[in-house]
Amino acid sequence: VTRDGAILKESQRSSRADEKIDIILDNIAGAINEMKTYAQQNNWDLKSVGLGTPGCVDVQRGFLKGATPNFKYWRDVPITDRLRNHVQVPVFVDNDANVMALGESKFGAGIGTDNAICLTIGTGIGGGIIIDGKIYRGHYYAGGELGHMSIVHDGRKCNCGNRGCLEQYASASAIIRYYKDYSGSKEKELNVKVIFDRFHAGDENAKKAIDEAIYYLGRGIANFINIFNPSVVILGGGVAEAGARYIEKVKQITFQYAMKRPAENVRILAAKLGNKAGFLGAASYAFERINHRDS
Ligand SMILES: [Zn+2]
Repeated sequence: VTRDGAILKESQRSSRADEKIDIILDNIAGAINEMKTYAQQNNWDLKSVGLGTPGCVDVQRGFLKGATPNFKYWRDVPITDRLRNHVQVPVFVDNDANVMALGESKFGAGIGTDNAICLTIGTGIGGGIIIDGKIYRGHYYAGGELGHMSIVHDGRKCNCGNRGCLEQYASASAIIRYYKDYSGSKEKELNVKVIFDRFHAGDENAKKAIDEAIYYLGRGIANFINIFNPSVVILGGGVAEAGARYIEKVKQITFQYAMKRPAENVRILAAKLGNKAGFLGAASYAFERINHRDS
């Protein structure tokens, strides 16, 4: 990826999420070296490597603090230190939702804006906050958990330990749950895409399920707008890619409940970059860090 966000070469590997730390690191180092070789063949100057990982990352040390829900052994990993010996260029790491937010706000739906709220709506709801063009992480890198804003007092139990979190009410999992409640369906393999397809085919229960999730999402986004007064709210993940009506309905609820002044001129948009947002954001973050170091 160039400084301007142009993609020169893409390659993909499986994450090997159930393997031990060394295997995952070797896998990443292999991917980096593949790119390095390609860059050398083209006489490009590989400046640095940007990386996104689930979990809480101490970005100064490039250290993953604690565990991540989807990777079995991937916990307390000094990622930068461990990779530096393999790849001989500076490596910068951040949380995956953060780099996705940066990618979308710089090169995707949020292009030209400096203040963005990004939500990735899938099994859960991931959040990213961009303030003045930079990722906001909080005091010790653990902020931005927008999916865990508690919106229903004493509501459903969340795996974060709290109750009534936004992701319990507005995620893909929530839509599936609502649909099963309304329709009485016992389907095991049901996913959110099927429910959207049924909605488009006129299924009344699918409509009710989606609208219920949208209602809570809109209430949540209204809160984010009141707090951050962003110029853009970007919705990504499988749910947000479901079509224009979804975004229109989210807007309708959001602007009904947000305060007038913070909501003035705020745009609510579907993400544009899909899974490219992560690596574009990670690259952009790496450039930002080496610029800072060079100056
Ligand atoms: Zn929660």
